[in-house]
Amino acid sequence: MTTIEDIQKIVLRPFQNHRQLSMREAETLSLELVGILCDSYCKNRETLKYVARFLTQDTYQDILDERNLNKMCGYPMCAKAPERVRDPFSISDNTKKFLWENNPYAYLSTYCSKFHFRCSQFYQVQLSDEALFARTGVHLIAQNATEEATFAEKYEVTLFEELLRKKASEDDVKSLIMGLKRLGIQSGEVESPENDEQMQEDLSKWLSDIKIVENKEPSILGDLTKEDSP
Ligand SMILES: [Zn+2]
Repeated sequence: MTTIEDIQKIVLRPFQNHRQLSMREAETLSLELVGILCDSYCKNRETLKYVARFLTQDTYQDILDERNLNKMCGYPMCAKAPERVRDPFSISDNTKKFLWENNPYAYLSTYCSKFHFRCSQFYQVQLSDEALFARTGVHLIAQNATEEATFAEKYEVTLFEELLRKKASEDDVKSLIMGLKRLGIQSGEVESPENDEQMQEDLSKWLSDIKIVENKEPSILGDLTKEDSP
């Protein structure tokens, strides 16, 4: 399991002597990050959200590909294997592309579930395309609070799980689908009302799954607040 502390200790520590990373240093840092996340997984949401400030969509794609080579679900919060493990060396890139575009279940060779496919897509589209070496100072561990807050805000991502948890009613699910489409996340390869319906069904199901999990684990914070009140 990877934590923010691990990322700082293993990935960032060697780069603490200056604010401006050279292109080469930024590349090394990215490789380290891919290395640590390709055979481990983020311990909590905070870690995955923290990591976003060092990632571009391309670096994230590298993590995804490497995780798949290690037979792990692409989503870096997950320790499971993809639903269908296929030897990635046995098929050509063209075949892979063809399968991806023509097989509606292709995501199952990359992810453990459709849910993690969506989580991963949603994370990836939010990542900045600004090169890492241009994000001056982002790699420094001892930030002052103002600077830390600036980076946290500038490279903030919302996790799909968090988004779903906030959306309770059916109406929200519909507006959620609209929002996802604007981000370029399609309900399927072909635009059709059936695909929208499918997406809506999926979202509602995940939503209730999340609620069930939360009811099983009553919030500790909630209990504490109760005890505190007079
Ligand atoms: Zn997964």
